[in-house]
Amino acid sequence: MQDILHFIDGRAAPSVDCRSFEKRSPLNNQPIARIAEGGQVEVDAAVTSARTALKGDWGRMGMDRRVTMLHNVADEITRRFDDFVAAEMADTGQPHHVIAHAFVPRGAANFRVFADIFKNAPTESFQMDTPDGRGALNYAIRKPKGVIAVISPWNAPFLLMTWKVAPALACGNTVVVKPSEEAPATATLLGEVMNAVGVPPGVYNVVHGFGADAAGEFLTRHSGVDAITFTGETGTGSAIMRAAADGIRDVSFELGGKNAGIVFADCDFDAAVEGLFRSSFMNTGQVCLGTERVYVERPIFERFVSALKLRCEAVKYGRPTDPGSDYGPLISHEHQRKVLSFYASAMADGATLITGGGVPELPGDLSAGAWVQPTIWTGLPESAAVVREEIFGPCCHMRPFDTEEEVLALANANRYGLATTIWTQNLSRAHRMASAIEVGITWVNSWFLRDLRTPFGGAKQSGIGREGGVHSLDFYTEQRNVCIKL
Ligand code: NAD
Repeated sequence: MQDILHFIDGRAAPSVDCRSFEKRSPLNNQPIARIAEGGQVEVDAAVTSARTALKGDWGRMGMDRRVTMLHNVADEITRRFDDFVAAEMADTGQPHHVIAHAFVPRGAANFRVFADIFKNAPTESFQMDTPDGRGALNYAIRKPKGVIAVISPWNAPFLLMTWKVAPALACGNTVVVKPSEEAPATATLLGEVMNAVGVPPGVYNVVHGFGADAAGEFLTRHSGVDAITFTGETGTGSAIMRAAADGIRDVSFELGGKNAGIVFADCDFDAAVEGLFRSSFMNTGQVCLGTERVYVERPIFERFVSALKLRCEAVKYGRPTDPGSDYGPLISHEHQRKVLSFYASAMADGATLITGGGVPELPGDLSAGAWVQPTIWTGLPESAAVVREEIFGPCCHMRPFDTEEEVLALANANRYGLATTIWTQNLSRAHRMASAIEVGITWVNSWFLRDLRTPFGGAKQSGIGREGGVHSLDFYTEQRNVCIKL
């Protein structure tokens, strides 16, 4: 069993009272790590360290050195690539190719990209007239906000945590991270990387533990925190927003989704099937941007359902490193219970089960893991819970549609507004749909293609604010205007 400790003031540390909790492998329910469990004392220590670091070497460091240091962080992550991949595979049980090709490289890229974005961002300046005719010049300068609380989820833990830590540090802030209790390993590993490249103590801190009435809530309520960036469930976002109200702290929220995939009859059929398979089932459906509502134009509906069913039935369950394995378990038994309760509610609501719907039979110790089958239903009304609520599992409901207006109304009739994927060869229609659909990101004939310079976030109850590119700088810096009378 591995011990995973907090990382406070540049050192790995247990909790003061040595409190800890156990992490079990989602593959077979065997204990794999003991995690230090933080409370108010550890949060106080981390925030104090982060505040002190703002006034030390880090606060005085010029931009060029900071940018170089963040490039060194990226290089060190790349050097220790196998350690990060192994840690994330152990926490999540997801296949090696997903973690090694998509998630961990993005973690390193976050540091490179945001360091460069900060360095290359222009500042605003406006000339103005004055009554005496001499005029004045305004220009804006960016200052770090201070101590940033980063609260992150478990579904792509390293990618999602560094997506916030990297721009926060690039802008000169210090951070206290509360990673998900379900996937804590890479956050502490990143502490080792920070030390290896000489990031000063207190710039990057990690406190492990739980959310409500625990480390997460203590951190978001802490008066020494200047802003809070959070990725997770919409309900948790509401709770954090209440905590942020004390002291009027700024928030950036990336929340839940119930994303629609829209397939027109003129699509490239095979590409659309593969695209929808990925968007609904990659990472065992535990992707905020994933598709749980699929609308297919009627002439190709039956054929599309059959093709997606075949694709689902070809998945290879297995350990992350098993040759050929391309499908992992859910993160935990608790999440498995939640997903299976949605599977039951679909049937109770009268769904037609196309494939899946339960727990696969797996050999040996894997039978004790948090597995569920990829699942497709048809025949439900839009009011059914599995069509309305975020499940965050490997499943989708499929429904035929006849017109563009109809599918647009169906797609938009949801409280979430995170992402959509549209499959069509008609460019005008793609533009029309993309402009009318109420989401933060629309993919046309693709999914999960991310350019880190673009604005990312959710519409409606899927988020507050945008991160990515200069939008991250807008959140992680305070802009101050200077007006000079000429
Ligand atoms: P979650 O909200 O349960 O937990 C996320 C983090 O918040 C964890 O670290 C948790 O300990 C902490 N937390 C929980 N309650 C808290 C509280 N009261 N105060 C402070 N911290 C608290 O989410 P999850 O189950 O880890 O992740 C899945 C959710 O995340 C899904 O809803 C998914 O859509 C969403 N998500 C969104 C995006 C996005 O970019 N929009 C990306 C990934 C995941």
